[in-house]
Amino acid sequence: MQGFTLTLKEVRDVADGTRLFIFDKPEGYTFTAGQYVALEVPKIEGIEIDKRGLIRSLSISSAPCESELYFSMRRSMSSFKQVCWAMTPGMTVVITKAVGFFTVLKEDNRPIVFLVGGIGITPVRSILKQAEYEKSQRSFTLLYANRFTKDATFDEEIQNIALDHLRYVTVLSKSTDACAKENDERGYICADILKKYIEDIPNCLYYIVGSPYFSEAIEKMLVDLGVSKENRHMDPFTGIQATTVEEGK
Ligand SMILES: Cc1cc2nc3c(=O)[nH]c(=O)nc-3n(C[C@H](O)[C@H](O)[C@H](O)COP(=O)(O)OP(=O)(O)OC[C@H]3O[C@@H](n4cnc5c(N)ncnc54)[C@H](O)[C@@H]3O)c2cc1C
Repeated sequence: MQGFTLTLKEVRDVADGTRLFIFDKPEGYTFTAGQYVALEVPKIEGIEIDKRGLIRSLSISSAPCESELYFSMRRSMSSFKQVCWAMTPGMTVVITKAVGFFTVLKEDNRPIVFLVGGIGITPVRSILKQAEYEKSQRSFTLLYANRFTKDATFDEEIQNIALDHLRYVTVLSKSTDACAKENDERGYICADILKKYIEDIPNCLYYIVGSPYFSEAIEKMLVDLGVSKENRHMDPFTGIQATTVEEGK
């Protein structure tokens, strides 16, 4: 694959079975928060390549204002993921230019509601970090669905994002821990939970990201609540399986 060569600087575990890969950003590489790339990993001796090969679509989880490029993913047994987990600093990958429309228009000031399942948080981290950098006064609500707290990628970091109007709500489907006093729900994202946090449901902008199964279920909920197509932005992570990686359905 032709594109930009990135050198791995560091890896960090950012949730259960979830790893963040930090690369140097090549000079002149530009993107908009929320976009994604195709990323190709190298062959590594001893890892047999399966028929899905060594390229995947991945959202950039760092923001344009940050000096490095972040990619984050859940572990699986695919050869792509085996290579990722075997990679060490100094190794290189190749990415394409960034593409996609899961982005936020600065000229539009309507409240934004992110409805996110599992590893779908990657483009949302990018958007929120960029908004923080720009001192955005916009209203953001993030409803983040996972099975347990340990599955919530970037949980602590998102809690610490300094935006004047950000509400971060965790929705845990399998946890039996008591709910925290505020912004903590049990079960799945549903109309009742949305109504609790959002006053004017039809007039917000919705950004839906997670497995295709998750995205379809959330889209149906919004349609039933009278949210128009133009107010719904979708980024289904084709290839992600809800049963293994996110909200436990
Ligand atoms: C726009 C976009 C952004 C994404 N961003 C991220 C990200 O930031 N982090 C992340 O972890 N993942 C992201 N993904 C998903 C990613 O590309 C991988 O599909 C996913 O991580 C699973 O990879 P894998 O190697 O573990 O499993 P895979 O080998 O990809 O297989 C997982 C399962 O999905 C099936 N499958 C694979 N591809 C398809 C397909 N095209 N259509 C239908 N079924 C398929 C396989 O048969 C298998 O059952 C994104 C996908 C898209 C489209």
